[in-house]
Amino acid sequence: MSKNSVQHSQESVLSLVIRAFFWSALIALLLVAWTPNSLPTFSLGGLFGEKGARRAVVLLPTPTPPPSQVVGIISGHWKSDSGAVCPNGMAERDINHRIALLVQEYLRQQGYKVDLLAEFDPRLNGYRAAALVSIHADTCKYLGKEYTGFKIAPARGLKDPSQLENSIRLKNCIASRYAAETGLRYHPNSYSRDMTEYHVFNTIDPHTPAVIIETGFMNMDYDILVNHPAVVAKGIADGILCYLRNEPLHPATATPKPTATKAP
Ligand SMILES: [Zn+2]
Repeated sequence: MSKNSVQHSQESVLSLVIRAFFWSALIALLLVAWTPNSLPTFSLGGLFGEKGARRAVVLLPTPTPPPSQVVGIISGHWKSDSGAVCPNGMAERDINHRIALLVQEYLRQQGYKVDLLAEFDPRLNGYRAAALVSIHADTCKYLGKEYTGFKIAPARGLKDPSQLENSIRLKNCIASRYAAETGLRYHPNSYSRDMTEYHVFNTIDPHTPAVIIETGFMNMDYDILVNHPAVVAKGIADGILCYLRNEPLHPATATPKPTATKAP
């Protein structure tokens, strides 16, 4: 081999290496440029549940369970103030908290993740869940024998009408199960603005269905609220399950529907 041809073959190898490097760099560049484009599409879709983005959502790793599996329970006045107080010192906050803990336990047993939230919990800012229920009780003052029973107010859905629709369905489910479980009747004429304009309704995500329940009057309904919190809690939890599982409001009379395909 002459000196000339050695030099020539060295040049060919060098140009091959350069060419190979150029093409791999180009391919790598194309891949990098293409991938991030698809990322914002499905992460936004996942946040807002847009139909078009559904398929791509599967590609994202999910560090937390999807919101459809999460239920929020606000323990009324917890970490804030006592709420209503009876002459014997029994505070509404403590009545609410025992019930809230039992609701949490009951729903956990059914396979749901439950956030137990304080009255002004920082997590309530933009809070997302399949359902949110705030548990309160009404005054311990004696207002008359007719002041017995419970009432429920739904989130108003000012930013999203579907929130109101779903909150009303949640309200009806809880009212149905709660009345059956506790024997208490619905007391519609004692709403306060604390309920209909409940502060939490303004801070949560506008898609989260939410209600506030006054479980009873601490005067006339003292016995069931204080001595039978498990009965009260089961009424609320069964109502939430009725909503999540899309059960008929009156199971005894309605024709049974196939259970929802959504796993708890
Ligand atoms: Zn209260």
